[in-house]
Amino acid sequence: MHIQPMNQPYAPLSAALVAPVVTGVETVILDLPTIRPHKLSVATMNGQVLTLVRVHCSDGVTGIGECTTIGGLAYGGESPESMKTNIDTWFAPVMMGQDATRVQALMARIGKMVKDNRFAKSAVECALLDAQGKRLGLPVSELLGGRRRDRLPVAWTLASGDTARDIAEAERMLDLRRHNIFKLKIGARPLRDDIAHVAAIKAALGDRAAVRVDVNMAWSEGEAAFGMAALADAGCDLVEQPVASAAALSRLVRRFPVALMADESLTGPESAFEIARVQGADVFAVKLEQSGGAFNALRVAAIADAAGIGLYGGTMLEGAVGTVISAHAFATFANLQWGTELFGPLLLTEDILAGPLDYSDFELTVPGGPGLGLTLDEDRVAFFARDGIRKTISLPGKA
Ligand SMILES: [Mg+2]
Repeated sequence: MHIQPMNQPYAPLSAALVAPVVTGVETVILDLPTIRPHKLSVATMNGQVLTLVRVHCSDGVTGIGECTTIGGLAYGGESPESMKTNIDTWFAPVMMGQDATRVQALMARIGKMVKDNRFAKSAVECALLDAQGKRLGLPVSELLGGRRRDRLPVAWTLASGDTARDIAEAERMLDLRRHNIFKLKIGARPLRDDIAHVAAIKAALGDRAAVRVDVNMAWSEGEAAFGMAALADAGCDLVEQPVASAAALSRLVRRFPVALMADESLTGPESAFEIARVQGADVFAVKLEQSGGAFNALRVAAIADAAGIGLYGGTMLEGAVGTVISAHAFATFANLQWGTELFGPLLLTEDILAGPLDYSDFELTVPGGPGLGLTLDEDRVAFFARDGIRKTISLPGKA
């Protein structure tokens, strides 16, 4: 309803009905230190690089999004630098002047002009959802269909590469009541060494914690067959993407008393459908960036539900923004049988938020404010910006 204010000149009805439009798109790359090296079979990360996106709208609302990769280009085809360049050069012109309130319509418009680039699309969609939530006074989870839970179980990844150090780290996390699900990154070392590493950690933790592994596609199918049998014996309850090929995954599934999870094979609804069609996994690791955004992640979850496949909320080791949009999406899932691994912000030594996220009692609280429910600490964002003040400081390993 258009209400005429008292004693004010008449405002044309059309002005009140004009939807806010996108007036600006900003990107910035942040280089953040991590608490320790994070060893994966594909790369060792000694820091994390976040690409933040801000979408400014004509009603004065600004939304934020994040795209982050694991180990630069080691995990997939997008890098922090390519995402920034592509958003600046190709996404922004398609978005400018468009209705900012019709997020799905604008994402479809971007999809026509920009192929692939799932991570960058996920960040832009996140920023639009954040803006729309702030505009309507609703958390993003409500825009995504409605929240079913406020807290999400969060696994921790033990990836120092050293067995004793990993056990000590797990014990510390149990004492802090921060995590009781541990994922071990294996696949870089000889198979028998990896199995011994997992068995030693599970033996030390016993029933106090679940132990799972992520092989990041490092094994051949034959190695995986040997490895999965040995991991089941060791008490491991979930094996994530032991092999690269989806066909090999489908031949390994349900041959061993340990659940098999698809991660890298899962690149959005089409691949989810293909894996479901051949019954190629017990569990899907749903990642917003891998899926191409929150709406696509919901489609992946719907396919899993229909196929009787379990769900796990995955991470690309994003900072707070990418983690929280994921939390909003996972909070709406009908099923989330395997919990999440939304620990990315805890891997960073520096916070870029005005207030920290609540990780307590083995869970993360999904923020309840409008949009993502986050406020950035702009001074810290400026400090860690690659082209900001950081560039003028000489740090080891930095140009
Ligand atoms: Mg994985």
